[in-house]
Amino acid sequence: MYRTHTCGELRLADAGKTVTLSGWVQRTRDLGGMTFVDLRDRYGITQLSFNTERNKTLCDQANALGREFVVQATGAVKERESKNNNIPTGEIELIVTELKVLNSAKLPPFTIEDETDGGDELRMKYRYLDLRRPAVRSNFELRHRMAMEVRNYLSSQHFLEVETPVLIKSTPEGARDFVVPSRMNQGEFYALPQSPQTFKQLLMVAGFDRYFQIVKCFRDEDLRADRQPEFTQIDCELAFVEREDVLNTFEGMAKHLFKTILGREFHEPFQRMEYDDAMRSYGSDKPDLRFGMPFVELTEHAQGKGFKVFDEAELVVAIRAEGVAAWSRKQTDALIDFVKRPQIGSSGIVFVRWAEDGLKSTVDKFYSQEDLQGWAYATGMQKGDLVCILAGEQHKTRKQMNELRLHLGDLLGLRDPWTFKPLWVVNFPLLEKDEESGRWHAMHHPFTSPIPEHAHLLESDPGAVKANAYDLVINGTEIGGGSIRIHDRSMQEAMFRVLGFTDEDARYKFGFLMDAFEYGAPPHGGAAFGFDRWVSLFGGRSDIREFIAFPKNNAGRDTMIDAPSRIDEPQLKELGIGVTVNNK
Ligand code: ASP
Repeated sequence: MYRTHTCGELRLADAGKTVTLSGWVQRTRDLGGMTFVDLRDRYGITQLSFNTERNKTLCDQANALGREFVVQATGAVKERESKNNNIPTGEIELIVTELKVLNSAKLPPFTIEDETDGGDELRMKYRYLDLRRPAVRSNFELRHRMAMEVRNYLSSQHFLEVETPVLIKSTPEGARDFVVPSRMNQGEFYALPQSPQTFKQLLMVAGFDRYFQIVKCFRDEDLRADRQPEFTQIDCELAFVEREDVLNTFEGMAKHLFKTILGREFHEPFQRMEYDDAMRSYGSDKPDLRFGMPFVELTEHAQGKGFKVFDEAELVVAIRAEGVAAWSRKQTDALIDFVKRPQIGSSGIVFVRWAEDGLKSTVDKFYSQEDLQGWAYATGMQKGDLVCILAGEQHKTRKQMNELRLHLGDLLGLRDPWTFKPLWVVNFPLLEKDEESGRWHAMHHPFTSPIPEHAHLLESDPGAVKANAYDLVINGTEIGGGSIRIHDRSMQEAMFRVLGFTDEDARYKFGFLMDAFEYGAPPHGGAAFGFDRWVSLFGGRSDIREFIAFPKNNAGRDTMIDAPSRIDEPQLKELGIGVTVNNK
């Protein structure tokens, strides 16, 4: 038997017992005559104690142990003389009578401790060592608990967990597909699912009524801190539902997770916001509502006084930063630098401050005290506040102001990761126009239905149609989204027409779904939630890689196994792929 206990479970009450532990050597302290070894496993650390007087050979053996050696130790549990209150096993130690090295270890390339000296790259290359660090491992304990609670909740609501295939045909979710060549059908390819969207709809046609799956999805997109080429969704679908039913069900799931995982109770319903209002007031379809600072439009107040920048702008928009009128020139210049960065692309900020010496702006040349008072009134400005104004083309300016608002939120400490502000954003546009090609794209995906009162506009005025779609946003992060689906063949065909598919193309790609709609498809809808993101939100971190056991880097590589990699000529041939890619 390798062990009778784990390294995390022995307490004072166990004193006197003879036990065997197995684990990794965290560190060895040779105090000359006495040696202490911290033995670590998933459950904790227990101190092993050696003494030359008791047993010199054993003590020498202990001194020879290297970091991360795998050892087995047997001995008696004893109360410690100097106790360590920082760890649960800190009151005892093991007086070792038998020590066995189960495996030696090379010196690890970084320290296996919460505060490690390993940089990102090294940690990812040796991820199996990184995962030994308790702080990293606890992320996976959180992930596990959340997955369990998702299953508990959905199961209690009669959802069935059903697996859908991974080798499928392209399902558009707005990204590129990863494809897999078929050996048996040369020249043809499977696509990896961007989501199980069509399958879950087919399960509704099949009468499964309520489906869910915690499932891998694959999207070939450029990567960011909150995006991975493969990621996990909590994917769900329900039959015989309207939007309200779906929102209530998943609000229930979110509340269940908040309560069971974080001990937070939300008694009030989650806030709801129309997409148009979110864009107007926050310049984003995923506003962070942990703090206020909504946009105030000043276009009418600000035009016609000879200030060209405002006069020529489609939108003049302001936000009020509370209590920072005294910010120095250096601080306000830093804000200007921030919005001028190419990623944001604004040309500058007009400031209005209300300090001891009254209301002052950086455009005093053009505006009277009365004008400024009008702005102050419109923005709810108080003495001590600073108002920041941006101007330009509406959509761009709103996006820039969104960035500035979030930045100010950070500067003012208003984005505490342990404050949670969930929000449903509803009534998205169904379609958006690609300015270059002039073509319509589905904003969500092409299976999303219009809100019932707009259904008749689908082909005559597509741009005006609102989608029966919704997103769950928490703290400015899109946690999930979904929609009520089209379940009628003719409407689905119309949708594909609007998107510019020929009938033939639509039939080739989605004939199976439209055929299914002719065999008694119930009204249905659903949603999917980004599981990695949700776990990272509850873990108080923004990098989802910390919550994925074996993530890919920003170039889409797994540096540990070194993938992607080339494949041999014979294998390529077998797949009917004639080219040799020589990229190394
Ligand atoms: N399939 C959608 C997605 O992955 C979610 C949904 O509409 O249920 O975003």
